[in-house]
Amino acid sequence: MAHSVSISCPSCGVAIEGTTAHTRSLSCPHCSNWVYFGSNGWESAGLFEHAIDAPSMLQLGKSGKLTDRHFVVRGRVRMRYEDGYWDEWWLEFEDGDHQWLEEDDGSYRLHENIDVAAEAALMKDATVGGNVSLDGEDWFVTERVDAKVAGVEGSLPVAIIPGEAVVCVDVMGNGSKMSIEAGEQEVQISRSSVVRGAAFKWS
Ligand SMILES: [Zn+2]
Repeated sequence: MAHSVSISCPSCGVAIEGTTAHTRSLSCPHCSNWVYFGSNGWESAGLFEHAIDAPSMLQLGKSGKLTDRHFVVRGRVRMRYEDGYWDEWWLEFEDGDHQWLEEDDGSYRLHENIDVAAEAALMKDATVGGNVSLDGEDWFVTERVDAKVAGVEGSLPVAIIPGEAVVCVDVMGNGSKMSIEAGEQEVQISRSSVVRGAAFKWS
C-alpha cells in the first residue's frame, strides 16, 4: 500500500488524514474547499458547484472487484465537451496500484498510465491528421477533443481545478495507440482497454 501522509488544508488549516503520496488534489473533508498541489505547494481553489450528478454504477467510496482485483473508488473528474459529458473515475487497487476508469454513456475503458515526458503546451497545437512529438518520436493524431473540467470529487492523482481546459488527444504509432490528456498544469498519457459493465463485481 502507498504510505498515508497528512497535509494541512491551505483553506482551513485542519490536518487532512488519509492522503497518499499519489494525491495531488482533493476536497477538504472539513471545509469542502478543493485543494491542489500547485507550484507553491498546497493551494486552495475555493468552493465549487460540482456538476457531477448522473446515474452511474460507480460512486465515490464504493468498492468492488475487477478481474479479481479489489478496488475502492477514490475520486472522479467530470469532463464537459461540445457533445456532452464523460466521467473519469480514479480507482485505488488493494496492491496500491491506481488506474483511471473512463465512463462514457455506459461504456468503460480502463487506462494504464505510461511514463512519457510531454509538455502540455505541445498538445494545444495538435490537429487531427498531424503529428505530435513524444520522447523524440512522432505520433499520428487520430482524434482531438477540447474539454473542460466540469466537476471533481474525492481525491485525485493530478493537480486539477474545476473550469480548467483539458486537451484530449488520441495518437497512433508503431502499431500502438495512446491517449493524452493535457490540462493546464499536468499531462497524462495512457493506454486503454474496454471493460464490460458486467466485469465489475460490487461488494
Ligand atoms: Zn479545509
